Amino acid sequence: MKKIIILLFFVLSISLYSQEYKWYKGNIHTHTNHSDGDEYPERVVQWYKDHEYNFLILTDHNILTETKYLDYNGNEDNFILIAGEEVTSNYNKKPVHLNGINIKKVVPALKGNSVSETIQKNIDAILEAGGIAMLNHPRWRKAITANDVIGIKNCDLLEVYNYNQSSNNFAAGGEESTEMFWDRLLSKNMKLWGAATDDTHNYIGEFSYNKANPGKGWVVVRAKELTPDAITNALKNGDFYASVGVVLKDIKITDKEYKIEIVADSMMNYTTFFIGKDGKVLKEDYSHTPSYQFKGDELYVRARIFCSSGEFAITQPYFLKK
Ligand SMILES: [Zn+2]
Ligand SMILES: [Zn+2]
Repeated sequence: MKKIIILLFFVLSISLYSQEYKWYKGNIHTHTNHSDGDEYPERVVQWYKDHEYNFLILTDHNILTETKYLDYNGNEDNFILIAGEEVTSNYNKKPVHLNGINIKKVVPALKGNSVSETIQKNIDAILEAGGIAMLNHPRWRKAITANDVIGIKNCDLLEVYNYNQSSNNFAAGGEESTEMFWDRLLSKNMKLWGAATDDTHNYIGEFSYNKANPGKGWVVVRAKELTPDAITNALKNGDFYASVGVVLKDIKITDKEYKIEIVADSMMNYTTFFIGKDGKVLKEDYSHTPSYQFKGDELYVRARIFCSSGEFAITQPYFLKK
């Protein structure tokens, strides 16, 4: 009997080991006409299915859009829905929006006595509802500063690229980019993973630069299986990259180096910037397999892979052990 149990354990561990990680593409910030999106949930889901996404999180404002009837066949079609909500609050007319991902119940938007307290209260409520939290578009309408976020606890994700107009993703007018905002928080040892999203609102009519159309920014998650819990865990652990066009084949991080493989087009050029504390560029690498050897005093290292087409991807910070 004991032998059989040992044998079973052996077979089970081999089958678990052989279960390989795969990369799954998804959009984690999406509106439908249940809030201020212009299309029915069924058609929204169909758009993402038709464009080879593997998962989608519908995040209507202060509504938990029912997903069961939209996703009746599980992952049979290599596509799943994950429950979500954009918990939409404000402080002193400044918008404070957080996505609750994989929540089990609707999260009522809460208010605090400051921007920071409003952020924290809603994060706590999202966790209480069984989900993980993403702080959305911090620079939208110039609402949130890095100082408002320093010291915030239990937030796993930061929306670094939000493709809605007036999200102020990029540096201009003497104000910093959201990537620099992110580096300020990382430099305070806050472990926040960077995401890119569509924040989709517009599915009807001509797609244009000033509309919140689908297909602009996404995440690619490494997980063993395509289930809401496996994808959520990978997001929580930072096992993903965010993309605005550039596709990666692999990311390998050991205690010695940070290595990336780009799915490169030989007709275009690539520069990978390895970035550390305070947004400092540590190395520029022009190859299709950029790598960075750790020195030990960087605090963290992350990468931005920029293509001559204007497309790019960002990978997650690796915090060096002291
Ligand atoms: Zn929002
Ligand atoms: Zn939104």
